[in-house]
Amino acid sequence: MDFNDTKEEAAFRSEARTWLAKNVPSADELAGLDYIEQAKLWQMRKYEAGWACIRWPKEFGGRGASAIEGVILNQEESKFRNLPGGIFGIGQGMAAPTLMTWAAPEHQARYLPKLASGEEIWCQLFSEPAGGSDLAALRTKGERDGDEWVVNGQKIWTSGAHYSDFGILVLRTDPTVAKHKGLSYFFLDMKSPGIEIKPIKQLSGDANFNEVYFTDVRIPDSQRLGEVGQGWQVALTTLMNERASIGAGGTVVGFRSVSKLAQRVQIDGKPAIENAAVRAKLADWYCQESGLKYTGYRSLTALSKGEIPGPENSIGKLVGAPKTQDMSSFAIDLMEQSGAIWDPEFAEESSLFQSSYMSVPGFRIAGGTDEIMANIIAERVLGLPQEPRMDKGIPFTDVPTSN
Ligand SMILES: Cc1cc2nc3c(=O)[nH]c(=O)nc-3n(C[C@H](O)[C@H](O)[C@H](O)COP(=O)(O)OP(=O)(O)OC[C@H]3O[C@@H](n4cnc5c(N)ncnc54)[C@H](O)[C@@H]3O)c2cc1C
Repeated sequence: MDFNDTKEEAAFRSEARTWLAKNVPSADELAGLDYIEQAKLWQMRKYEAGWACIRWPKEFGGRGASAIEGVILNQEESKFRNLPGGIFGIGQGMAAPTLMTWAAPEHQARYLPKLASGEEIWCQLFSEPAGGSDLAALRTKGERDGDEWVVNGQKIWTSGAHYSDFGILVLRTDPTVAKHKGLSYFFLDMKSPGIEIKPIKQLSGDANFNEVYFTDVRIPDSQRLGEVGQGWQVALTTLMNERASIGAGGTVVGFRSVSKLAQRVQIDGKPAIENAAVRAKLADWYCQESGLKYTGYRSLTALSKGEIPGPENSIGKLVGAPKTQDMSSFAIDLMEQSGAIWDPEFAEESSLFQSSYMSVPGFRIAGGTDEIMANIIAERVLGLPQEPRMDKGIPFTDVPTSN
């Protein structure tokens, strides 16, 4: 692949760069707003100027841009640190592609433009206490009652449920057939009666995700995506997009930030960067980062040829997240006693490394754990035999459980 922009790509990059430079909100503009208000302000500004969700068709609020233009805009936008916006990731990156593939045209027209503009936020109600890596083992029940479905059960780890307007949801609608075949997929209003949301306090001190309980919650059948029993196929559309978005995610802790720190702090009265053990670590991470960069270019090559990237995203997530965790831990060690200070107001580098160290373990779990990523690479890339699946083809009600 030629890594340089074509003439058209360079022109697009320059247009995006100019617009961003003029329109990124200033600190003064954001002052006094909470994080959600800040994110909504920036998203609406992009939407009104035609820079939101640019790969989506125009009728859904995008501008029909190519995949490579989407990547260029992301690259340019990511040069601005701390722009608010993460709250739209699930809606725009996972719910929207699922709606585009499976929803009725009137639902697409109703929901997609408001997803693009950030007026409505969506969450993903998939994981349950009994259904995480093995998502198809989920138990929350959907029972048909005329034109509605009645939902009872519990979801967990639902990011953003407490501020979301809508959610995508997979339910067990037929427990008498094999586990993948008895699922159906819906979307629902998060303000529906019978939904109870309980935040979960995290290691980082935040409470970004929740337990969500359903007691006789009613969903109209018109909000089903796909046929009854086709929920697994619909969920795969969401999951493929989830892995792509998480795999592509970047982090500010990397070779540059750690080597900068190593130049500043001292070991035995000399800059840490002169220490052989520190240099060896940095060299190792530099190699890993280069490998990830060129693996990322393989995805870009596929995109620029109009192809769908393969399992590179699993490699990116499997190598990238543990590397970030190692680097954050090492940086905290380099800071010695002051590494223990975490409050951004007092901590070195505004607690960049401490915050990363606390949040990155979640990154190794969300969207498929390290072990699941390794299984995907083993089975789908290396062609190794599948792991034994004891419950294959057995009716869900006959699968032995501990309760
Ligand atoms: C930050 C964060 C945000 C999240 N947001 C959401 C959300 O918005 N919506 C949502 O639905 N879910 C969300 N999740 C949940 C996430 O999808 C699950 O945590 C994840 O799929 C793992 O499931 P589990 O927690 O049930 O772990 P389990 O599946 O119980 O796994 C436990 C351990 O066993 C290992 N293991 C499991 N199966 C295998 C196997 N076959 N081979 C080898 N090892 C295995 C795992 O790797 C792990 O180490 C979020 C999670 C995190 C951390």
